Amino acid sequence: MSRTRLNPNLAKIHRSYTVEEIARLYGLHRNTVRSWLNGGGLVAIDGGRPVLVQGKVLRAFLDTRRTAAKRPCPTGSLYCFKCREPRAPALGMADFIVGKAGTGNLRAHCEVCGSTMHRRTRLEAVPVVLPGIAVRVVEAAPRIAEGTAPSLKCT
Ligand SMILES: [Zn+2]
Repeated sequence: MSRTRLNPNLAKIHRSYTVEEIARLYGLHRNTVRSWLNGGGLVAIDGGRPVLVQGKVLRAFLDTRRTAAKRPCPTGSLYCFKCREPRAPALGMADFIVGKAGTGNLRAHCEVCGSTMHRRTRLEAVPVVLPGIAVRVVEAAPRIAEGTAPSLKCT
């Protein structure tokens, strides 16, 4: 599966597109579009020439591809960008950094590679998102602009 993100909504539903137009619209090679038509699941209008694809068909095709490429994080995991997989927090520990209006960021280390992972959630949802994990609630570090002590770098 390609990592390229193609926005289905770029295709206008009341238009028809040639292979070249689809390639130009999404910055793809024409052969990529042709492979979608040849068994890739994209369906053209009848068998005429030039090959035309209805905008709404193209949009539905790209929507399906995008949904299939999504990797929702299961319960008890955060997405590790280094591993490109959802991972459990190392040592069963995580921090919740309090944000605005009850939301915040979960922060933990990947159990496999050790890199920092983040997951956005609400405070009351933490036991649901990470059951059995010791989550420490921490206040966000004050922003530099809100600090009372003048910056040491200022002259
Ligand atoms: Zn990792």
